[in-house]
Amino acid sequence: MTLTLEQFNAAPADDAAALLEGIYEHSPWIAEAALVQRPFRSLAHLKHAMARVVHNAGDQAQLALINAHPELAGKAMVSKSLTAESTNEQNKAGLTSCSPEELEKIQTLNAAYNAKFGFPFILAVRGPRGAGLSRQEIIATFERRLAHHPDFERGEALRNIHRIGELRLNDKFSVEPRLGHQVWDWQEQLSAFSDPGYLEKGQLTVTYLTEAHRSAARMIEQTMRDCGFDEVVTDAVGNVVGRYRASTPGAKTLMTGSHYDTVRNGGKYDGRLGIFTPMACVAELSRQGKRLPFDFEVIAFAEEEGQRYKATFLGSGALIGQFNPAWLDQQDADGISMREAMQHAGLPGALEAIAGLQRKPSDYLGFVEVHIEQGPVLNELDIPLGIVTSINGGVRYLCEVVGMASHAGTTPMDRRRDAAVAVAELALYVEQRAARDGDSVGTIGILNVPGGSINVVPGCCQFTLDLRAPNDAQRDAMVSDVLAELRAICERRGVRHTAEETMRAAAAPSAPAWQQRWERAVDSLGVPLYRMPSGAGHDAMKLHEMMPQAMLFVRGQNSGLSHNPLESTTSDDTQLAVEAFQFFLNNLAAAT
Ligand SMILES: [Zn+2]
Repeated sequence: MTLTLEQFNAAPADDAAALLEGIYEHSPWIAEAALVQRPFRSLAHLKHAMARVVHNAGDQAQLALINAHPELAGKAMVSKSLTAESTNEQNKAGLTSCSPEELEKIQTLNAAYNAKFGFPFILAVRGPRGAGLSRQEIIATFERRLAHHPDFERGEALRNIHRIGELRLNDKFSVEPRLGHQVWDWQEQLSAFSDPGYLEKGQLTVTYLTEAHRSAARMIEQTMRDCGFDEVVTDAVGNVVGRYRASTPGAKTLMTGSHYDTVRNGGKYDGRLGIFTPMACVAELSRQGKRLPFDFEVIAFAEEEGQRYKATFLGSGALIGQFNPAWLDQQDADGISMREAMQHAGLPGALEAIAGLQRKPSDYLGFVEVHIEQGPVLNELDIPLGIVTSINGGVRYLCEVVGMASHAGTTPMDRRRDAAVAVAELALYVEQRAARDGDSVGTIGILNVPGGSINVVPGCCQFTLDLRAPNDAQRDAMVSDVLAELRAICERRGVRHTAEETMRAAAAPSAPAWQQRWERAVDSLGVPLYRMPSGAGHDAMKLHEMMPQAMLFVRGQNSGLSHNPLESTTSDDTQLAVEAFQFFLNNLAAAT
């Protein structure tokens, strides 16, 4: 008999606690403390409640929880004294059939890890899809985590414990994140296409209109057809556009989507999650023979990252009439112009065709986008989904401070005009000035002393400034403070400076009514609402100029690393994203 949440909510406390036995290794206190919050609205709600119990239990209890876990492929496994759950997991990951070399490697890592952190290495070996990590993946993760800072690694251990608990809970309730698996598998399939030079190394790189990029587009097209979209076309800039028709002709359209190009050696989820999540919704609608009272347009944007050509947001920009004609003549590193690349890909490569892509705002209800967070916030909070309040506006500067290069041995400290120290002082100011706002960010990402030498006081220092905030006024106030500080530092130190603005992008606050729709959708899943600005730019920024928009973030694993092969998300979190999107569509349908 399968256990349902209703039965669990109604069960006497002792029985309910017994039902949760083994979710957290040798630590029944977690389930017991969480039970007082019954009734739970969903398994996600219960998972979060248990994670909060651990969070609030304090350092000692957390350490005891970590220490209640067996070593990976350790003595307990070899002597077969693991709990049934652990045996199942270590089995699934193939750890019970390690070669003697692998076993020895893991034992060495176990010893080094324990010596450094004082607790056993804990990894959810069933992995983000629940199907089991390979032994190579396990060893690679082990080696990587051994280098972490102790504070951080402790958090990582707890997050893995929660993930282990999530999978065990799914088993107890016989729950499979079927749609999450589907999206996860599509992403895996799409990641098989990668540009030459990267493919061989097992790295993911898909830049605009390469063979891999075109194969990716074909895979998305075919999958859209299989999902039951009524129309699927690749447009004049390479966007793959699928349309699921409304129940009645002439209805307005809801647009969604994200990009399928990647940065070099990027992750499998950046952009792609926002294409496949709504596709899973259409597959379900089509399977059930259901129609929405509006057209649903899902777009896989061809280009967002600006890797092959200096033209970011090309795919979404074309829809709002922002295609710079000069881009067509721009050449890539091999001297191939964008026009040639387009024609080679079977696209017209002509301005008229591209201009024809511009949408009419009056045809649209709005734009929504699902995206992996690309940051550590949700991961640290143990919250699977985040509500985006605004896409940060940003300003970038290319700067130079010029002082006096002089002898490092003979120039007394009070007579130096050190350009690098002036910039160092500014860097500290940027750090505290951005922090003061709470949600602004400021970075000096490049800091060069051209022609520098070990025995010369730096006479010149070139650096960049990247300043972002959730609204333009907040950003501009920070920019003006930073530039004023730069002037003051230079004045005081007797050096001079230049600052050239190289980019200015307006913030894109979410349309309140649309943000609220996402909030209702997330709330319906029983997971807590967490509102946050988006530090990164997204396609929604472009559509923002034409229609109301709002975004939903999905938690990333590995502290939210992105633009990195370690970018990851679980099929459970993806399942929640699909369910949130389904709720969103039904809710909008009811209001239309
Ligand atoms: Zn992206």
